[in-house]
This record gives sequence, C-alpha cells and structure tokens, in this order.
Amino acid sequence: MALFVQKYGGTSVGSLDRIRNVAARIAKTRAEGHDVIAVVSAMSGETDRLLGLGRELSERPAEREMDVLVSSGEQVSAALLAITLEAQGIPAQSLMGHQARIMTDSAHTKARITRVADERLREAIGEGRVVIVAGFQGIDAAGNITTLGRGGSDTSAVAIAAAVRADVCEIYTDVDGVYTADPNVCPSARKVAQISYEEMLELASLGAKVLQIRSVELAMKYAVKIHVRSSFSDAEGTMVTGEDESLESVVVAGVTCDKKTAKVTLRMVKDEPGVVAGVFEPLAEQNVSVDMIIQNVAIDGRTDLTFTVSQDDLARAKDVTEALAAKMGSGEVLIDDDVVKVSIVGLGMRSHAGVASKMFRLLAKEGVNIQAITTSEIKTSCLIGAKYAELAVRVLHDGFGLGQEI
Ligand code: ASP
Ligand code: MG
Repeated sequence: MALFVQKYGGTSVGSLDRIRNVAARIAKTRAEGHDVIAVVSAMSGETDRLLGLGRELSERPAEREMDVLVSSGEQVSAALLAITLEAQGIPAQSLMGHQARIMTDSAHTKARITRVADERLREAIGEGRVVIVAGFQGIDAAGNITTLGRGGSDTSAVAIAAAVRADVCEIYTDVDGVYTADPNVCPSARKVAQISYEEMLELASLGAKVLQIRSVELAMKYAVKIHVRSSFSDAEGTMVTGEDESLESVVVAGVTCDKKTAKVTLRMVKDEPGVVAGVFEPLAEQNVSVDMIIQNVAIDGRTDLTFTVSQDDLARAKDVTEALAAKMGSGEVLIDDDVVKVSIVGLGMRSHAGVASKMFRLLAKEGVNIQAITTSEIKTSCLIGAKYAELAVRVLHDGFGLGQEI
C-alpha cells in the first residue's frame, strides 16, 4: 500500500464531467489499495475571471483581498470533487489551505510555504478518507489567507507530498509529460520517460510551462518523486527525479524557446570602473531582472552595453536606461523586442566538450545570426532573431538527435 498525492490542474477539473473523470481515477487508485491526497486547482479560467473582477473594481486592489478572492476558485473545485466522491460511496473530505495547515509567509499573491503541519491530513487519511486539499493557498502566521503565485497548486502538492512522505506526487495535466521540445513546433519531439530535477528547473525557467518552478525546487530539496502525466489517458508520463536513479545519460535533454525576451543596448558608455554597477543597480531597484549581458571592447574609452530582460519588464527597463543615458551623457538607447532565446539543456553538458560549439554550428548552417550567448553548467542559450525561432528549435532538436528513440 502506498500513499499518493495527486494534483489535478485547471483543465482536469474544468467541468463537472471532468470532475467525475478525476473521481474515477481516485477511485481506481483506492481500489488498488492505496491512500490518496488530492490537490486541486480552480476550474480552468476561473482564477483569471476572479482576478478580472477585482481589477475592474480597483486599479490597485489590496493584495490581501485579492488572495481572499482568488482562493475561492480552489475552494469550489475541492468541494465539488468531495461531493462527487461521496456520491459514489467513497468517503472524502475537502480541506482549505488553512485547514490543512499549509503555513506560508505573508507575501500576498506570491507567498512561500514555510511549513505543512500534517496532523489533520494524517488524521483524515487514518479515518479511511480521500483528502482533497485546495491548492494554491495557505495561511500566514497572523491567520490571513495567502496564495502562492500563478501555477501554485503544483507547489502545494509537492509540499504536501514532502510533509506526509508520499511515495509519489502525481501531477495530472492536459499534456502527457515533458517533451524534448514543444510538439506544436517540432513534430519529431518525443516524451521523455525520466528527467532530473536540475534539467526540469532549467526547462521550467526557460519557459516550458509544465510545472511551477518553485515546485521543482521543493521537490529537489526534499527528494519528492514527481510524475507528470495526463488526466485524459492512462499512459505513463515523465518522472522527475534525482540524478542517480538510472537516468538515461543523454547530452541534451531538451530544447526550449523563450519568446518573451527583449534586448536593450546602451550606446557609447564610458569604459571605466563603476559604470556597469551604475547601470544595473537602478534596474535592480526597479525590480527588473536582467538575463544576458554583453559588453564590448572599448574604442576611445567608450563601449556599447547590451542586455536582455523579460518583455514584461521592458517598459521599466527602457525608462531606467533612458534616464541613465541622459544622466551619464552616453549615447542612445536601442530597444529590440524582435528576438527570442533558444536554449539546449542537459546534464551531459557537464562532461561533454563541444556541445555549445555544435549548437553554434547548427544555427550557422541555417544562416541564423547569434546576437548573444549565455551558459550555465547544464544549459547554453542563444539570442536570435524572432523569425528564426521555430526553425532553430527544429534544427537543434534534430541536430542533437533528440527525435530518435535511444
Ligand atoms: N488556479 C491557480 C492559477 O491559475 C493555481 C494553479 O492552477 O496552480 O494560477
Ligand atoms: Mg499549472
């Protein structure tokens, strides 16, 4: 007998029929002799709808109240699922975040879980019930309802799985696993059976939206096995686990493309100590996170400084940089949001030389110009023109042999 945490995303509980389908899945797991804690998202579209209502009434709605508002979405789906199970004769009980003792800090709309006091969960399981926990929400030390940021139900599920030492945390979604590339872009993309936490973290932060990044960080910290799979099929999905568990030793595990990036160039800045700090400090103060940075060799004591930011931060980045240019007496500010960042990710890059150079060659053969590069131990990213996005993903995917069965 095992203890399963099963998280069902918005599309999986998007209608009453789909909630019945989830109940059937839980019933099946129970019939196989296992205990189940289900964690649910709001019905698809509901969180956006609720956010819209709040924003219609105020330009700057109080974050505390927005958390009270949006957390109601998960309350509804948790209750509906419990009602469905009970109607089928399966004892079930829904618990809101505060009832399940999901303790968080007080950062409304993006709170972090600090602790899960699991007594209530264990008690209900001990009574032979299916426990259904409203995802995405918790409670701070002062008793306020908090939420965990968009996609936060994944993190609720992993935190609960860690606290109760579940055998596995299944994340049910509308795709059947993690793919070597976006199958909509790359027809030869294939589902991977297993991937490491590190690779998944890189893929998640590069824009593969299967799991909330924090959930992967938490799973890695507490060694929670995650199984990403579809609630619409019985096919095995992708296991996200530690490295040691007989992972396929591939050099490149996946290719991603981040379209929400933009390039800012500050022309003719003075090449002297303190200038770079003087540019990036005010950006940080405005909460702009900078990704790639390039500074060229100076000519006559002046150089160009180029960096990339998320398109969400571009307006702020432009204001800050233009103000700086005026203050420092440097050249003009150039903005280019017609760029994308393509990346390859894989643990094997640690031990294989020549992976980055192969990436550059593959892009060059297609006439794709590389505007900036960054690397980490297990990732290489190139900034390229937006019109090459799809071509680049396909060329890299097939060039590194990802389309073939290994
Ligand atoms: N309902 C929340 C959202 O849409 C949380 C989640 O689905 O994970 O972001
Ligand atoms: Mg999600």
